[in-house]
Amino acid sequence: NRRWVLASRPKGAPVADNFRLEERAVPPLAEGQILLRTVWLSLDPYMRGRMSDAPSYSPPVEIGAVMVGGTVSRVEQSNHPDYKAGEWVLGYSGWQEYDVSDGSGLVKLGDNPERPSWALGVLGMPGFTAYMGLLDIGQPKEGETLVVAAATGPVGATVGQIGKLKGCRVVGIAGGAEKCRHATEVLGFDQCIDHHAADFADQLAKACQAGIDVYYENVGGKVFDAVLPLLNTGARVPVCGLVSGYNNDALPDGPDRLPLLMGTLLKKRIRMQGFIINQDYGHRIEEFQQEMGRWVNEGKIHYREQVVDGLDNAPQSLIGLLEGKNFGKVVIRVAKD
Ligand code: NDP
Repeated sequence: NRRWVLASRPKGAPVADNFRLEERAVPPLAEGQILLRTVWLSLDPYMRGRMSDAPSYSPPVEIGAVMVGGTVSRVEQSNHPDYKAGEWVLGYSGWQEYDVSDGSGLVKLGDNPERPSWALGVLGMPGFTAYMGLLDIGQPKEGETLVVAAATGPVGATVGQIGKLKGCRVVGIAGGAEKCRHATEVLGFDQCIDHHAADFADQLAKACQAGIDVYYENVGGKVFDAVLPLLNTGARVPVCGLVSGYNNDALPDGPDRLPLLMGTLLKKRIRMQGFIINQDYGHRIEEFQQEMGRWVNEGKIHYREQVVDGLDNAPQSLIGLLEGKNFGKVVIRVAKD
């Protein structure tokens, strides 16, 4: 069983030396246990948080422990009455080839799911995050302007497309011309602005002539600085993620902008709310599964994956994800199914 463990905690951006590849024998199965063979491993921005021991909503990965992560696996052997060999399950085996489970926390995907890896993306945690954050907190209304960054990632792409289904004018923000083209031509956003452009803030203002009613916050940093003056009275800001700052160990230098933020919230009666998807919305998963399953089947929601072959490539892929090198949802193909 090859597995990636956390070798050391990163200072700033993670580097290859923060991870260590180990090989361990698979332990024999006890009664009531199943052996899972990882086929797909999801890489997600939250993993950077788990590598750090700063206080957060979930405990950190211990040094020497297997890196955490959502997985789609097949049951290789079963000593459990509810599971049989060959079945597909969604679980949380982390960055390793095999895992022994007693079944807790597993979700069955059947014997022959059409696109098993999608359970880690549009039909799973990131899709659920987009759906709940936008609809429950963002409350988009027809004709309103919705802005979302990381626009071609699994969360942002889904947010923008749901926004279109709800009749919003959708402006995406993404890194580079190719991602922006994808957002408008494939995902159907009205406009998409490249945040690397020198005049990014001006371009965003021009794209949002009627101001911003819903800003779905994925990135923070200079994108938020450009958004803040454009927010309309009564705007809603679901705070989903702040990926531009995940590699920072300290607050940035510069003037204290808290009075500007608080003054804007007050004068414009803006509602800003953070959420952690499974902790806040776990009880609404079925509603999401039904509606998103229907939208995906009807071709109303498009989904792009970036498939990386081989568990060996997981560390570099996570490092790249935090720098915007991915284009679509990053999944590692750990084994052929
Ligand atoms: P993505 O696949 O979209 O990957 C992250 C993207 O962020 C990069 O591809 C890059 O896109 C963008 N990015 C990185 N650095 C910067 C920067 N400095 N400035 C602007 N953009 C940057 O990730 P996900 O769709 O999986 O996640 C999106 C957000 O949702 C993250 O913040 C994540 O932490 C959060 N999240 C929150 C959850 C919750 O429960 N609250 C659950 C799941 C996700 P580009 O090149 O286009 O800029």
